[in-house]
Amino acid sequence: MIEAGEKVKMEVNLAVEFQDQDLNGYNTVAEIPGSDPTLKDEIVMLGGHMDSWHAGTGATDNGAGVAVAMEGVRIIQALGLKPRRTIRVALWSGEEEGLLGSQAYVKAHFGAFENPKPGYEKFGGYLNIDSGTGRVRGAGVFGPPEAANIIRKLLEPFKEDGVVGAVASRMRNLGGSDNTSFNQAGLPGIGMGQDPIEYQSNTWHTNLDTYERILEDDVKKDAVEVAWCVYQLAMRDDLLPRFAKADMPAPPPAPTPEPSPSPTPGRPAGRRSVRPE
Ligand SMILES: [Zn+2]
Repeated sequence: MIEAGEKVKMEVNLAVEFQDQDLNGYNTVAEIPGSDPTLKDEIVMLGGHMDSWHAGTGATDNGAGVAVAMEGVRIIQALGLKPRRTIRVALWSGEEEGLLGSQAYVKAHFGAFENPKPGYEKFGGYLNIDSGTGRVRGAGVFGPPEAANIIRKLLEPFKEDGVVGAVASRMRNLGGSDNTSFNQAGLPGIGMGQDPIEYQSNTWHTNLDTYERILEDDVKKDAVEVAWCVYQLAMRDDLLPRFAKADMPAPPPAPTPEPSPSPTPGRPAGRRSVRPE
């Protein structure tokens, strides 16, 4: 309107306040304890991220993922199932600022291939949902082909419902979502691939990312599939296979510090360009 010579008047009502009492972000974590005395120290995880962008309420990014993860563990509880390994749900914070919550968690609990903590060897995989409201169609699995083969087999009961399979990944770079915090450490991060619906085009980080965009039937099915997957990972005799020592891909180089404050606060330059889904 300004370009057209229009005199523009704008009225803004901001009902916000600035707070500096507590600058931490908080992950929300809960678990179903394992029932097998020999396996309960082993952890299988699932989750999404709780934080969002300011323009909308964040229904598809990532209320949907949070709801699917919570519903997944609710289903397991409601059926009275007793997983052998511990199933832990994590709703991350600080994802949009650079996967901060999941990175801190992985460092604190598991360490990394090059610098493992005691929990490292007892970790059985992390399923991440963060690609909008669409149906789960498959999974990207960090690890050798045998790990992806196992997830593909687990997803087979949903084949007739359009779940295609799983592919293996060797990428340890931090990328589109919290599963890559696990990949970076050399742990089996599993990113669920979903139907795009109107995610990248409409709702992703926009003021359209609100409740009515959620496709209820799709997220219900996602919750069933994720519950099934995580339960099976908690029940099978062995943990997901990992890269042999000699075969582990090299970690990505440490990021070079930016010379001046990032031009887009809260969004590391180029991070989204490697978004896999
Ligand atoms: Zn997200």
